[in-house]
Amino acid sequence: MEKKEVLYEGKAKIIFETSEPGYLWVYFKDDTTAFDGLKKELLDDKGVLNNHISSIFFEFLGANGIPTHYEKLLDERSMLVKRLEIIPVEVIMRNIAAGSMSKRLGIPEGTNLKHPVMEYCLKDDALHDPMLNIHHIYALELADKEEMENIQEQAFRINEMLVPYLEEKGIALVDFKLEFGRHPREGIILGDEISPDSCRLWDLASGNKMDKDRFRRDLGGVTEAYREVLKRLKKDES
Ligand code: UDP
Repeated sequence: MEKKEVLYEGKAKIIFETSEPGYLWVYFKDDTTAFDGLKKELLDDKGVLNNHISSIFFEFLGANGIPTHYEKLLDERSMLVKRLEIIPVEVIMRNIAAGSMSKRLGIPEGTNLKHPVMEYCLKDDALHDPMLNIHHIYALELADKEEMENIQEQAFRINEMLVPYLEEKGIALVDFKLEFGRHPREGIILGDEISPDSCRLWDLASGNKMDKDRFRRDLGGVTEAYREVLKRLKKDES
């Protein structure tokens, strides 16, 4: 397996072509950004931590019947994934009000939601990832009805699995972002990453934040918190 030319460089990852058709090399950088890239910092080892954390989540989901793009770890900062045509819609699942939902709807952060909330945003930094509803997605032909029903079902199932999985590790899954893509043979499958960069994770005992909000809100101890997430995920890994 050889790494070839860069296909795409994002804010936190670099995607390389590989010698194997249909597979991509994902390299996790230490770069950490927030507010559409306005706030930027290098955090030692963040890429290593997110690579390992994502791989554990993908393996857990894969073992429980959720198809994902994840194939295997390649090195400390890299994983091999199936090449997908990413649907440019960020799917956000929420269990507890926080962040933009709290602001928009005036719900105090930390309020338990009686039912998980799914939201969609357009993946477009220049437009600041505007919120979409299902009709926008159909009108703009970002995905069709069958695809969106599939995505919706998978996103709720993923949430139903991850909440108790993390709870056992003393972590509340407040909210998280998923991206899905089209695979030529497997249909719609989960892509991108699942890490403290894309989830809000609160320590159940203390309420402390163990995710990118530590960076967004200048709370310090960002990589220490990510390291603790990885430690807890690894502890009871079967
Ligand atoms: N999120 C993400 N990428 C984005 C926007 C949001 O990974 O471009 C994640 C974020 O980390 C959080 C969840 O999605 O876990 C909900 O984020 P929210 O809409 O509250 O936005 P924020 O307040 O983070 O700007």
